[in-house]
Amino acid sequence: SAPIVIVGAGLAGLRTAEELRRAGYEGGVLLVGDEARPPYDRPPLSKQFVRGETDDTTLRPPEFFTEKNIELRLGTAVARVDTAARTLTLADGDTIAYDQLVIATGLRPRRLPGVEEVTGVHVLRAHDDAESLRTDLAAAQRALIVGAGFIGCELAASFRAAGKDVTLVEPQPAPLASVLGEQIGGYVARMHRDHGVDLHCGVGVDTLRVDVDGHVRGALLSDGSDIDADLVVIGIGSVPATDWLAGSGIELADPTAGGGVLADELGRTSAEGVWAVGDVAAWRYGDIRKRVEHWTSAGEQAKLVVTALLGGAAPTAARVPYFWSDQYDVKIQALGTPDPADEVTVVSEDGHKFLAYYSRDGILTAVLGAGMTAQVMKLRAKLAAPTPVADLLAATS
Ligand code: FAD
Repeated sequence: SAPIVIVGAGLAGLRTAEELRRAGYEGGVLLVGDEARPPYDRPPLSKQFVRGETDDTTLRPPEFFTEKNIELRLGTAVARVDTAARTLTLADGDTIAYDQLVIATGLRPRRLPGVEEVTGVHVLRAHDDAESLRTDLAAAQRALIVGAGFIGCELAASFRAAGKDVTLVEPQPAPLASVLGEQIGGYVARMHRDHGVDLHCGVGVDTLRVDVDGHVRGALLSDGSDIDADLVVIGIGSVPATDWLAGSGIELADPTAGGGVLADELGRTSAEGVWAVGDVAAWRYGDIRKRVEHWTSAGEQAKLVVTALLGGAAPTAARVPYFWSDQYDVKIQALGTPDPADEVTVVSEDGHKFLAYYSRDGILTAVLGAGMTAQVMKLRAKLAAPTPVADLLAATS
């Protein structure tokens, strides 16, 4: 019979394949990916890899796939899906049948329009992006990073560690403001400025300056600054890789709400036998749908999809989301679901280290720390059940 086909050989796709075998599924498992490289880890790309500290981003050695009888078909994009016939059409024209389909195609980085031909301008999502960025970085002295989200902030830290001049430009009032809110964004801003980053907030790029050879030389910013730069990184977010689902009938989220494949709390999509996991999935959490673009949730969602796909009972224990980001000498970590609209109480502060509680209607929604791993982790139980933030504050004061 037809295999379970997973489209997208990234983290979520790999975890799904692994979970199927761990759960004892003995039928065919086929992982199809458009990148030539076997599944690799993306977090090091903006950190150890770009700084030249490691080359190894492999998630599993080649023999793992043989041992587990997971078939890889790499360097092949899926172009179309027919959910009635349960077939996929590959970009090379081949057709493959599936029994169950798992969509794990992740995201594509947004680019600045009109600069495709300019050399020295980068995005960062894939291993190939990171290799070309690392090569250009070695020869560059002044970097301009457009967008102070996680990737922009991590690259700013990595570039400073490599001794480069860094200008970081963010249209929001503070770095990470759209994820963590302005108050915590202010802490992140101070950390970058203390490390010598020339940070411009509330500012966009008007035009890039390009030399006669077509290489970037700088940028004019909307605040009137004229910045010199021989390397530019565009870190203005990503869009779900769902082009190949056009016309399939599989329901997608509204692009203005972040897009992605609509999935329920077990990853089921609107089509029979089709599931979605990872960054591409607009997943249901209680009464909201949300695409979570973090490493840990890819594995958690894969577990849920496999349980449901094989007909098992869904776990009842509440799960507490987690993510981290490494910048300079601190690890920023969050447990729970921080939202920029939440109330934020900073409960401890020491240089670039801090600990903050997020709350909504008085109930703790998240705990966020920088350089505070133990303090963050010990609050996991408080996030698994509704906890009044006032109780926590009373206990710590
Ligand atoms: P991906 O890993 O993007 O995999 C999707 C795969 O599908 C890709 O290989 C893609 O090319 C392929 N694909 C797309 N369309 C098709 C198609 N039509 N046919 C075939 N294949 C297709 N998270 C954290 O929590 N902490 C961190 O510190 C952190 N750092 C990060 C640093 C960087 C530079 C990046 C890019 C991400 C980082 N993340 C981090 C996020 C984390 O890596 C992602 O959440 C995770 O990779 C999501 O996995 P995924 O499988 O959903 O998507």
